[in-house]
Amino acid sequence: MPIRVVSQPLAMQALAESHRQAGGRIALVPTMGALHEGHASLLHEGRRRGDLLVLSLFVNPTQFGPNEDLAAYPRTMESDLDIASRAGVDVVFAPPDAAMYPPGFETTIDVPNTARGLCGAVRPGHFRGVATVVAKLLNIVRPHVALFGEKDYQQLMVIRRMVQDLDMGVEVVGMPTVREADGLAMSSRNRYLSGPDRARATALYRGLQAARALAEQGVFEATSLVGVARAVIEPTVDRIDYVELRDADTLAAIARLEKNGVLLVAAHVGRARLIDNLRIALVDRP
Ligand code: AMP
Repeated sequence: MPIRVVSQPLAMQALAESHRQAGGRIALVPTMGALHEGHASLLHEGRRRGDLLVLSLFVNPTQFGPNEDLAAYPRTMESDLDIASRAGVDVVFAPPDAAMYPPGFETTIDVPNTARGLCGAVRPGHFRGVATVVAKLLNIVRPHVALFGEKDYQQLMVIRRMVQDLDMGVEVVGMPTVREADGLAMSSRNRYLSGPDRARATALYRGLQAARALAEQGVFEATSLVGVARAVIEPTVDRIDYVELRDADTLAAIARLEKNGVLLVAAHVGRARLIDNLRIALVDRP
């Protein structure tokens, strides 16, 4: 079956509705395109979990700040369709901006606690843009299950909170981060990295791993874990936005690892702003 490309929300809604009426199960993978293997892993899991697999491609302007990379964000429709067809996508929903934000549009969704700090502090309004567009995509595609990457950990938590708070009735599945052979988390923004910057970008994951190794030796204080990660990352990148230890279930700040922690980092390397995170579990020591 050739992929169906749908650009209008009403047409997508009608297609989803008829699939639901026929008793089908819809899986949605929302993306901004410029697809890579990280996205492909979400699509493969979506293929397993639904009988209609929908991929949305939409570079959402409302989640970019005024000085961010909206204009430069890679747009690679042809290769995206190729990756989508190899992953077994049935429908690509690729709306124009005006179909998503027609004149008069004004409703937004805030998830203020979960969006506080981390990327929310450095990118004001970002998670409002994300929550609002994901709510719209869920209302348009009406999926039974929607898949997101743990690479954008705070985003995943914001979406889980919104879906629960607003009774959206969709199962949210978080998928592990897919990495390059040297550990760099795959990202559409890795395209911004020139040769030397690409090598420097590995510092984020190396820093996270150093912290995990320290925790495995029985050091649980946030200051120590953050300190060792910073010691690896700081000399290599151009600027750190944050390195923070949080509770992996609630995203609350923690001073000491108690059960499941997650260490999150954002840093600038050349033109790219990169994020990454690593779960750090408290292991019982004899
Ligand atoms: P994006 O279009 O890149 O903003 O992301 C679309 C979806 O793919 C989001 O749910 C991301 O968390 C997820 N994603 C992006 N990069 C990766 C990766 N390296 N591994 C797993 N999921 C990813």
